[in-house]
Parts: sequence; C-alpha cells; structure tokens
Amino acid sequence: MTKSEKTNIRQSRELKKIGIITSGGDAPGMNAAIRAVTRAAIYNKLEVVGINHGYKGMVDADFRPLSSRDVSGILQQGGTILKTARCAEFRTKEGREKAYQNLQKAEIDALVVIGGDGSFTGALIFSKEFNIPIVGIPGTIDNDIYGTEYTIGYDTALNTVVQAVDKIKDTAASHGRIFFIEVMGREAGLLALNSGIAIGAEVILIPESTKDKEVFERYISKGYKRKKTSGIVVIAEGDKMGGAIKLAEKAQQENPDLEIRVSILGHMQRGGSPTAKDRIVATRIGIAAIEALLDDQQSIMIGLRNNRITHVPFSKAVRLKNSIDTDLLNMQEIINI
Ligand code: ADP
Repeated sequence: MTKSEKTNIRQSRELKKIGIITSGGDAPGMNAAIRAVTRAAIYNKLEVVGINHGYKGMVDADFRPLSSRDVSGILQQGGTILKTARCAEFRTKEGREKAYQNLQKAEIDALVVIGGDGSFTGALIFSKEFNIPIVGIPGTIDNDIYGTEYTIGYDTALNTVVQAVDKIKDTAASHGRIFFIEVMGREAGLLALNSGIAIGAEVILIPESTKDKEVFERYISKGYKRKKTSGIVVIAEGDKMGGAIKLAEKAQQENPDLEIRVSILGHMQRGGSPTAKDRIVATRIGIAAIEALLDDQQSIMIGLRNNRITHVPFSKAVRLKNSIDTDLLNMQEIINI
C-alpha cells in the first residue's frame, strides 16, 4: 500500500461492522449504491452485512455478509440485490425491539438505509430509540425528498418515461389521437413534469399544481382544435383531478369527436439499467455515507446540492417538502402555442 492510499483510510474505534438495507419503493441505481457503500466500508476496514428485504430482514434476522466480490457486476443492474419490502412490524415498538436485538446479536454497530422518506422516518425513530448511528441514501424515482436536489433512480425513470412516450407519440400522430399517459408519483409530480417537458406534452397535470383544471379545460376546448392532429396529456398518478382513466372517460364523454386513448406506464418506470448519472450519483453518495459514519454522524441523509455532497438531518428530510419550480409549469403556456 502506498503512503497516499494509507492516508485515505479512516478508522473508527467504535465502528467495526455496518449493515446495509434497501427499503420501501425500489429504484434503479440502488445496486450501484450498495456496491459503493460496501466497497467504501471495506476500504476503510469495516465489515459489511447485507440485510435482505428491508426492515423485514432486520426483524427476521435475514442477514448475509457482503464482500467486495459479492457486489461485483451489479453496478449496471436495476432493482436491488438485497430486495426490498414494506414492513408493518417495524412500525411497532415490539418489531423494532426485535430488530435491535438481532443487530446486537450480529454485532452490527451502524446502518446505511437506502430508501425514501418513509424509510427515513423509520430510521429516525429506530435511531432515537436505540441510539444506533444511521445514515440514509435517497433512493426513489420521485425525487421528492427535502434537502437533496437529486434522488437515485430519478434520472433513469425520467429517461424510461421519455423513451416510452416517444413511441406512443408515433402512434398518436399516425392515428390522430390524444393519449392520456399516467406517470408514477402519488404525491410528487416532478417525474411527470420533467418527462412532460422532455416529450413535448400538450398538458401536464401534477398534484402540486393549483391550475390543473383550468389548463386542462383550456386544452380540451381550444388546443385540439388549433390544427393539432394528435396530443399527449401527461398525468401524475396522484393528480387531484383523478388518474388518467377517469380523466380520459370524462373528456371523451364531453368531446365525442376526439379519439382519446389511455396508457398507464406503471412499474416499468421502476426498472431498467440505471443511467450513467444515477450510477455516478449512487457511487458518490454511497462513499459519502460511509465517510459520514466514520465521522460519527448519526441520523442524517446524504444529499446533493449544487452538485456537492450535503448532510441533511433525517428530522428535516422527512418533515419538509420540496416545492415545485412554478417556472417549469408556466413554460407550458409558452411552448404549447
Ligand atoms: P419509502 O421509503 O419508499 O418512502 P415506505 O413509506 O413504504 O417507503 O416506508 C418503507 C418502510 O419504512 C415501511 O414499510 C416501514 O417498515 C418503515 N416505516 C415507514 N414509516 C414508519 C414509521 N412511522 N415508523 C416506523 N417505521 C416506518
């Protein structure tokens, strides 16, 4: 080992073994994060344990050691090799007590949790109850976590939606149809908003907008008649006007002359090989998560702001909401003349 390599290694007296977990909704790039966390930990002389099936694996002691080679070849794979789950038992004090006992038995001193704000809420409660250091890595296709401009999986999902809708646009144009396309996002519309801009949707409807009804009615009454022979309406699944099916039925009834079709993109948005951006971000954040644990950080999420690593307390990440950039929404009016 060279001198310069030696100086990069951080060692902690208290920290010997860490556990990694992927929890909640899966997102492309989670594997890239698992790989980065594992390798950064091993580089810094820590042992690594993979916890399967999210918090369920903690409650059931479903653990396996992870070596550097165990995470070979997963950088480009979608999904998560550790699997994920939603675990009701972890929401109870008894469930968390069981999980803690299992961690104690396995001599796991700290955790890295890769997931969304639900997973961080569980992590915050658990960390407070048992005083165990936990660092979070934001992994969700929604990109809706406060304190970070970016969550792992978002860029891949965005590109998946764009590729799918480009194809739908071809058939929409051939038949002169309007397609109502439902994009994932129960509470957050960023994926719908940015994919809508990227594919040139005539209308984008998202839960955060207060003008949805007005924009939609204007389009149906005028837009289609403005010599446009086909059209794309992108709707986030959690939009207040209802999902794509309901909205399309209503529009069809009121406008029998239009040829309206619905396409719900569904779970394809969660899968696929992560984009270069997702892989790079996952690698940076994964390494930063281990460095934060070695610096005795506790109950924080690693984020990116202005393309720099930031540390955001869980308490803020789970309590606060990102607001949508209204300029992005307003662009629709200009671009869709
Ligand atoms: P995401 O992390 O994608 O937002 P969820 O909201 O489904 O996903 O949360 C993932 C898991 O985190 C839940 O299944 C549960 O085990 C745990 N969790 C979420 N909220 C809490 C809570 N208030 N208390 C304890 N555990 C929680």
